[in-house]
Amino acid sequence: MADKAQARAASSRHLNDVKVQCRHCPQSYSSRGIASHERSCSQKGQKKKECKEFAKLAMRAIDAQRKEHHCE
Ligand SMILES: [Zn+2]
Repeated sequence: MADKAQARAASSRHLNDVKVQCRHCPQSYSSRGIASHERSCSQKGQKKKECKEFAKLAMRAIDAQRKEHHCE
């Protein structure tokens, strides 16, 4: 009985223990969580670099919206 429970715990533990290291930071996450983490982590990393570019795009988008709104 204890053996079965132990085996089950070990097998489920094994599945949960599959950890993948993030490509953007040294942290490791479960194979289930790594995808969402890498997405947000890469966005975090890019934010600094693309901050100015993003601001430009945002300004352009706001400008376009204003023009559209103005036309109507
Ligand atoms: Zn990361």
